[in-house]
Amino acid sequence: MTKIDFKEEKVKREIERRGAKRVLIQLPEGLKREGPRLGAIVEKAGAVPFVSADSCYGACDLATLDAESLGVDLIVHYGHSEMMKQERVQTLFVEARATISIKSSVKKAIRLLKNYSNIGLVATIQHTHMLNKARELLLKGGKTVAIGDAGQSKYAGQVIGCDFSNARLISKDVEAFLFLGGGRFHAIGVELVTGKPTIVADPYERRAYPVRDEVVRVLKERWASICKAKEAKAFGVLIGLKTGQKRVRDALRMKRKLEKNGRKATLLSIREITPNVLMQFLGINAYVNTACPRISLDDTLSFRKPVLTYNETLVMLGRKSWEELCRKGWFGS
Ligand code: SF4
Repeated sequence: MTKIDFKEEKVKREIERRGAKRVLIQLPEGLKREGPRLGAIVEKAGAVPFVSADSCYGACDLATLDAESLGVDLIVHYGHSEMMKQERVQTLFVEARATISIKSSVKKAIRLLKNYSNIGLVATIQHTHMLNKARELLLKGGKTVAIGDAGQSKYAGQVIGCDFSNARLISKDVEAFLFLGGGRFHAIGVELVTGKPTIVADPYERRAYPVRDEVVRVLKERWASICKAKEAKAFGVLIGLKTGQKRVRDALRMKRKLEKNGRKATLLSIREITPNVLMQFLGINAYVNTACPRISLDDTLSFRKPVLTYNETLVMLGRKSWEELCRKGWFGS
């Protein structure tokens, strides 16, 4: 039984309607295995399929340049909602929504929320269409429910790895959050940003669990990274080359701040931020990551040297307090 809706018929129709001759398929890591099957569908619709084998963690990483170099006339991007307009290559976003029952995991989450009455609801794009069902279950369980719409994401209640504005908006009105989706990262982000206990209702594993222990671990790791970076004399300021992660102005600003503070700073342009790549720069003691903040927060221990976010670097430089960072500054610059 499929658990994800890949909208195969719609994709076929769009290829035919747009008269696309070459199609580039982009899939997030968890869905890459579907590449050959989706490629065959594109082929049946009359176009040559290319399946991108490169990493793709968000809609910030549209493969526009790859598409241009392959002479592609349509990108089919799965698993994320549109983030920014690009008109150079036509792009079809297929949000890859889950088709799975949430009842059992949400009921388990309600049991874990027994001490709270006012609950905020959030979900990744795969589950935003299930938020009303989750709300019904919570209401039946005697809770009041809030779903935030700060206007930055495509859907109310949606969270992405670097945008928790929908959770932040309702944070003051709720006592705890229920996150609907698989994995821990987004739920950890919700609790980091709001400070409110957050329970994951994972429909794939049909279970529910809190993320408090992980949040405490992340906070300790981040504080340790900031302290270690204080000793550093030479910094690498990372500029992401993925379309939606390129923050050249932030990187230049940070280079100036570091130099004013007596540190050396080198701008490093980079596509994939991995421990192996950063290890090559022996003379650099710490990094400032102006690209995807998830890399710093999710992968702290894989990097041998501190990889601070922009705002963490401000804490290191004494320009922002740790409390301020914890209150509202984990993501963005
Ligand atoms: S910048 Fe990172 S967290 Fe934000 S959408 Fe891109 S991959 Fe996801």
